[in-house]
Parts: sequence; structure tokens; C-alpha cells
Amino acid sequence: MAARTPATGRDPHPVTGELFESPVPPGTGWPGDPATPATPVAGSAPDVVRLAAAASSATGLDALVSVCRACPRLVEWRERVATTGRRASFADQPYWGRPAPSFGDPDAPVLVVGLAPAANGANRTGRMFTGDRSGDWLYAALFRAGFANQPTAVAAGDGLELRGIRIVAAVRCAPPENKPSTAEKATCSPWLDRELAMSEPGLRSMLALGSIGWDAAIAAARRLGWSVPRPKPRFGHGAAAELTTPSGRVVVLHGSYHVSQQNTFTGKLTEEMLDEVLARL
Ligand code: SF4
Repeated sequence: MAARTPATGRDPHPVTGELFESPVPPGTGWPGDPATPATPVAGSAPDVVRLAAAASSATGLDALVSVCRACPRLVEWRERVATTGRRASFADQPYWGRPAPSFGDPDAPVLVVGLAPAANGANRTGRMFTGDRSGDWLYAALFRAGFANQPTAVAAGDGLELRGIRIVAAVRCAPPENKPSTAEKATCSPWLDRELAMSEPGLRSMLALGSIGWDAAIAAARRLGWSVPRPKPRFGHGAAAELTTPSGRVVVLHGSYHVSQQNTFTGKLTEEMLDEVLARL
């Protein structure tokens, strides 16, 4: 843990070199920042419900998510990490310190449902799975599968583009010890619901990373009135469940062990295992 730069309170972005405060104020030029200073800020669970329902485009939803402050514990944590709690190796970088919006093709037929941003990953870079070991693993696999134009994800503005896939998450703020509370998951869920509702007309499949992503995808589908098999399909690596939308379309939910270091370093999840699941999407 290291302190922020005391002289200016602003640090250079690792790609553009532009100086930013941490957390990054909306609409100040951060690569990929979907918000502006005028973007409405959700300050409570009812605000999230109301604003998510009003979002009419993926970009608009991304903007609303990226300035949300509805969970006091997570807001305090994400901003503390971004200021006085940075990892020493990133102490000279600005930290996004805001919720991570979805990333990728807004019209994608495939969604990846992750858990939550990492404190020194997406909470630093402002982009899903970017700047940590989990992301290194995931984006290399997406590149091998043809969903990404490059195998690396270092920072927003590094040229990474996704094709035919979009990465969303059950919770959009980095939680202490990677564990959001039940209430925080519930507060954040309308953002995911809206994401699914807007994606539904062209959605073919979803990939849940880990059991929390699996449960979040099923819960969102149920809230949206999709038909989900009973008993509830069990998560496992390679598991699959057919969800039927109100318009009668079938969306297949696939499960994969999460790309966390805990799984990839121990060999619980191998490149071959992940490639195999990605090939089914
Ligand atoms: S976890 Fe979700 S609902 Fe809570 S503050 Fe972050 S974006 Fe908002």
C-alpha cells in the first residue's frame, strides 16, 4: 500500500500520459469513460432501480453504472484503495476508483458474467478484467477464440477491442476481500437486469465465471420472467442450462471456473478447459 502523489494529487495515465485525480472525475478524458459531469448519480438502491429502468442504450447504461454510489461500504473501499490504499507497484498511477462499466460489443450475442472488479485491476484501470492476472488469462483466451483483437489488456486506451462478446458483472465495485454482501449484490442487480433485457433480442449465450456469476445470471433471468429449469441448474465447469426468454428464444448459460489466480495457478482451470468452453458460446 502506498500514498498518492502528494505534490499535485494527480498522476499520469499509463497510456496517454494525461494527468488524472483519483478517483477519476467523470468526463475528464479517461479512455473509455462513458460518463460526463451531468450523468445522474444513483445514491441508493431505489435510485439504481429507477435509473437502470430508464436507460435506453448500452452506452447510457454504462455511463450510469460508472458513477453509481449506492453502496456506502463499497464506495468507501473503492475510493480508499484509489487514494491511500494503492498497491506499491501502481502507486504512481491514477486509479479509476469508480464502478467498472460493461466492456465490449454493445450488440454482442454473447455475454460474459463476472463477479466484481479487482481492487488493483479494474478499480485502477476502469475497464473490466484489465490490469490483473485474471484479465491476462481471460483476454488471452478471448483472443485465441477470436473474440478479442489482441491477447493483452494492460490499461484502458491500449487498443483492445472485443467482437461479438460483452463482459458484464454481478457487482460493479471492488469489494473488500472480493466478497460483496448479499445486500450489495441485490442493490447492484438492476444494472445486470437491464443489461440482460437490452441484450435479449440478439443474445445467444452467456458464460458465467464462477458460481456467483452463474447464480447472478440465473437470478437476473428469473426476475426478467425468463423460464429457468427447476430444480435450479447446478454450477460446474462445463455446465450448461437452457434459459427461455418471454419471446421464446433460447439462451444457453455456460459455466466456467473463474479465471482467478486461485484457480489458474493451481491448475484447477487450464487454458484448454477455458478454450473448450469458449468454443461452445
Ligand atoms: S456495487 Fe453496484 S449498486 Fe453498489 S455502488 Fe457499486 S455500482 Fe452501485
